[in-house]
Amino acid sequence: MGTLMNKVAIITGSGSGIGRAAAILYAKEGAKVVVSDINEEHGRAVAEEIQREGGEAFFVKADTSKPEDNKNLVEQTVAKYGALHIAVNNAGIAGPLSNTADYPLDGWQKVIDINLSGVFYGLKYQIPALLKSGGGNIVNIASILGAVGTKFSPAYTAAKHGVVGLTKAAALEYADQKIRINSIGPGYIRTPMLTNTLDEATLNMAVSLHPIGRLGTAEEIAELILWLGSEKSSFVTGSYYSIDGGYLAQ
Ligand code: NAP
Repeated sequence: MGTLMNKVAIITGSGSGIGRAAAILYAKEGAKVVVSDINEEHGRAVAEEIQREGGEAFFVKADTSKPEDNKNLVEQTVAKYGALHIAVNNAGIAGPLSNTADYPLDGWQKVIDINLSGVFYGLKYQIPALLKSGGGNIVNIASILGAVGTKFSPAYTAAKHGVVGLTKAAALEYADQKIRINSIGPGYIRTPMLTNTLDEATLNMAVSLHPIGRLGTAEEIAELILWLGSEKSSFVTGSYYSIDGGYLAQ
């Protein structure tokens, strides 16, 4: 019997990378997975992959930067599966790379809209559905850049720090109502977010930032998302867990 048997889970941005790995692992562990992404082709492919392997999944297109898409995602989930037990707010973008003074205004707005406001909109509509379902767990995907800064990514760093703070605030509000809310901070993970934006030399430089001597994999991150989404982490709420090959220990 899987760790998430018959649990209903929404995973945003699960057409690729970390979200995709989490969706596949959740389905293997018995969850009914709502694969959601702005990218319809990739999202549908992940839902079909899960179904082919004998798992339960369906796809809902949602742009998490739009409140109405988050509302619709929760409504479609409850209409299809009758409840919501777990939400993984994972959708995110890297955004432009530049000094703060030169940072493009539209790039700032886009990163904040998706990486921070998107998580708030998710919580806003997921929490009432979790309460109606008798409680559940939310996992917000922040970053090591939710704990420390880096040069040339002011919007991403600000948004991910915001996700860590938002997670704590919401966790306190619902801790006594059977809802646990946590965030995680991956180091550099070899997903399309990195491989589509950084060249091999920069990726190799990123390796040197991790004492463990390599980048992480999406599957390794999915294991922490599974633990925090499951009742195995039943005394954990409002926490931020780094999963970073030692990056933040330095
Ligand atoms: P990824 O491979 O690019 O996957 C992200 C997915 O989210 C893509 O399918 C993307 O679609 C989708 N997406 C983008 N904007 C969206 C929106 N507005 N609404 C819904 N879906 C949207 O990235 P990843 O590396 O797996 O990242 C997942 C999360 O982990 C992000 O929050 C990221 O910040 C965080 N993270 C990643 C790393 C890393 O090193 N990879 C490290 C720390 C934290 P498109 O492909 O069409 O854009």
